[in-house]
Amino acid sequence: MQLKTILNRVQKFTSFVYGAVRWVDSASVPTLEVQIHARVNSRPLCGQCGRRRPGYDTLPERRFEFIPLWGNKVFFVYAPRRVSCPSCGIRVERMPWVAGKHRLTDTYAWFLAGWAKRLSWHEVAEAFHTSWDHVFDSVERAVAWGRAHQDLSGVIAIGIDEIAWQRGHRYLTLVYQIDADCKRLLWIGEKRTVKTLLRFFRWFGPARNQALQFICSDMWKPYLKVIARKAGTAVHILDRYHIMTHLSKAIDEVRAHEARELKEKGYEPVLTKTRWLLLKRPEHLTDTQETRLADLLRYNLRSIRSYLLKEEFQLFWLYTSPYWAGQFLDRWCTRTMRSKLDPMKRVAKMLRRHRPLLLNWFRAKKQFSSGIVEGFNTKAKLTTRKAYGFRTYHAVEIALYHALGALPAPKTAHKFF
Ligand SMILES: [Zn+2]
Repeated sequence: MQLKTILNRVQKFTSFVYGAVRWVDSASVPTLEVQIHARVNSRPLCGQCGRRRPGYDTLPERRFEFIPLWGNKVFFVYAPRRVSCPSCGIRVERMPWVAGKHRLTDTYAWFLAGWAKRLSWHEVAEAFHTSWDHVFDSVERAVAWGRAHQDLSGVIAIGIDEIAWQRGHRYLTLVYQIDADCKRLLWIGEKRTVKTLLRFFRWFGPARNQALQFICSDMWKPYLKVIARKAGTAVHILDRYHIMTHLSKAIDEVRAHEARELKEKGYEPVLTKTRWLLLKRPEHLTDTQETRLADLLRYNLRSIRSYLLKEEFQLFWLYTSPYWAGQFLDRWCTRTMRSKLDPMKRVAKMLRRHRPLLLNWFRAKKQFSSGIVEGFNTKAKLTTRKAYGFRTYHAVEIALYHALGALPAPKTAHKFF
């Protein structure tokens, strides 16, 4: 059987035929070149408008990389024609194996992009003897196609979150769809300002903004303002995950401060290496950690008192009635305000200020549990951390859309993957 026969089976073009296949002697990696010819008497399509146009001239041969075969690199070799198009001018013809000016065929790009969902970009480059740039280029193409073809209808609930990147110096705003039947990353923006979120709503469009029924977000002020303005009809929920994050941060602050203080006063360092004891849920602690926590609880430390306040606050989420949840919240805030723990008091003040939004969580019947946004947050952090190649915002953006966007792909993309 000839290689041509196989190629015609896996990737057949109507107006082009496969010609000779040959080894490239000079290549450092074993390489095959497959000649492609236009069918005799076929007229080229204009690369711009896609209409059949008279030929103008023929350019020198170009190579387009295809999926490697048994360790051999494979290239299509073709001399593109130029057309004289009355509407677009002199243009390079349309070639069905590649869109635009890329050096990788569409099929190979989808193939690499597919692997890039399972492996890191470096691993993909290594596994297929290609460069990081080619993998990036492929993922970028897949994301562009997917974003252009995704269906944005029927989005009812969204969650807004932020992550820090570049060692916490910069923030990204992430907007997720969190409907029961469809959860995905919808949009990413640089920073976390009023403008950032306004850009999301502008992109999403007024009709879809008005159709939103639930929005989960943090108490971050710029977010609150924009949400009230752009999606006033939606129920705005401050969800469990974001609130508990604030409490954890407050405990961390109390603990770090107290640990420093104890050290300065020369006390035995009871608080060193206790960070995770205090931040983890008690049911997730190991046996040793549990013993250490029990030891710690004997001291009447500020860290411990913060910890106990936080653990008590977990009860809040168990209420079903917004009324009783509200009563609990008020009592908890009053006690925290008397605690003399400044970071905790700040959280209590914030919770008081946002009481109605907090109680929305119960009105929405806990439908949008913290798990959704939290899960995405973990995955997003992992994606940005995993790839040391992501120095630019654009690369981070592409990686996140690829990993979390649940973007569609053309049917042909699944053939080789
Ligand atoms: Zn044209």
